[in-house]
Amino acid sequence: MSIRLRPHHLLCMLAYSGKGYTDAFVANYDTVMARLNGREEIRIVSGPDDICTALLGAVSGKVETGFPSETATKPETSEPDCHCHNQSILARDADAAAEVSKRLGRPIAEGETLVVDHATLAILRAGFKDGSIRTACGAYESSAACEWHALCSEIAAHGFRSAKLSPPRHDE
Ligand code: SF4
Repeated sequence: MSIRLRPHHLLCMLAYSGKGYTDAFVANYDTVMARLNGREEIRIVSGPDDICTALLGAVSGKVETGFPSETATKPETSEPDCHCHNQSILARDADAAAEVSKRLGRPIAEGETLVVDHATLAILRAGFKDGSIRTACGAYESSAACEWHALCSEIAAHGFRSAKLSPPRHDE
């Protein structure tokens, strides 16, 4: 099974430190992180993914914890203010896909797969820290900025020490 991620979550996963919108969202995100740290394959998707699931499922009742398998029925409804389907978030995905693709030198598009090994993580962290893959986050303190911008920037500035994405080195 693969971890379904939309493109801009390739950025968010780098700076995730255990904070999020709801307890269920954080619990689900922690589970996704454990899978990423276990080197499980990522499959790029368009639209809501395995991180969005906790927000979408919170109201639909179809998914209460964890995430759906690739064959499971996806939630059809969402929280009234959930942004998962918004055009602005789709634009965030497009920006992230283009910049991460350029940085990694490989396609980042629906159906593509990748694994976060140490080499990949180092490239993505460098791009995140120098801002070259962060157009999706919006300009700091602008109206388009992601609400987590300051926290994610602080985590990057401190060498990602508090970030949960940290695959083990022993098998490289
Ligand atoms: S600022 Fe927002 S979009 Fe950017 S990495 Fe953090 S949570 Fe993701």
